[in-house]
Amino acid sequence: MTAALDRTAARRWVEAFAADFETQRERLTELDRAAGDGDFGANLRSALGKVQQRLAADPDTARGVFAAVSDAFLDTGGTSGPLFGMWFRALSRALPETDPADLTQLAEGVREGTATVQRLGGAEVGDKTMVDAMVPAAAALVDAAGAQKALTAAAEAAEQGAASTEELVARRGRASYVGEVARGVLDPGALAVALFFRAGARALDG
Ligand code: ADP
Ligand code: MG
Repeated sequence: MTAALDRTAARRWVEAFAADFETQRERLTELDRAAGDGDFGANLRSALGKVQQRLAADPDTARGVFAAVSDAFLDTGGTSGPLFGMWFRALSRALPETDPADLTQLAEGVREGTATVQRLGGAEVGDKTMVDAMVPAAAALVDAAGAQKALTAAAEAAEQGAASTEELVARRGRASYVGEVARGVLDPGALAVALFFRAGARALDG
């Protein structure tokens, strides 16, 4: 069963994401080096460090936890910082002012945030960006919101979406400058989205 999304579960999720990210940081950096400029791991690390600082204020709702995450990413460089920041902002704003949130609200926030990222970055599915993991994860979460293990369904969809980026050449972002060189390289942004949902599955679905 998926646990209620309250401040404790949201913190558990964000902390699991930060821990999983650390185990994958070098890989993410290598992927961005192969088809970009190699700063993705550093950008994400910087954002997640700022998340920890902001969580010290101990937000009292899940909405507040994700608002802290959003502010931290918006305060971070790279293309990914502001895009993830706006994604988390929509996610936060879809959650209620008082805990607990239900997963239908979370699903709506993920869908809205993904639409915002697409509007700002202009990427469609298949352009080899974070959007390739966000769009299927949002759809899976909308479908599974009332079911057991909704975050697990989102994680599986995000992982498949991330895997699908490997064979693509990029049409957006820095990876689009290197043409065929990007083929065979997973998109690190999409992989980070998959890590986020897999951490959510561990934190909420048990
Ligand atoms: P930069 O390219 O500025 O160094 P980062 O390394 O922080 O940015 O982030 C790279 C990631 O950003 C890519 O892996 C991709 O997922 C994502 N990205 C880049 N451009 C776009 C875009 N236009 N729309 C959505 N995501 C994008
Ligand atoms: Mg980069």
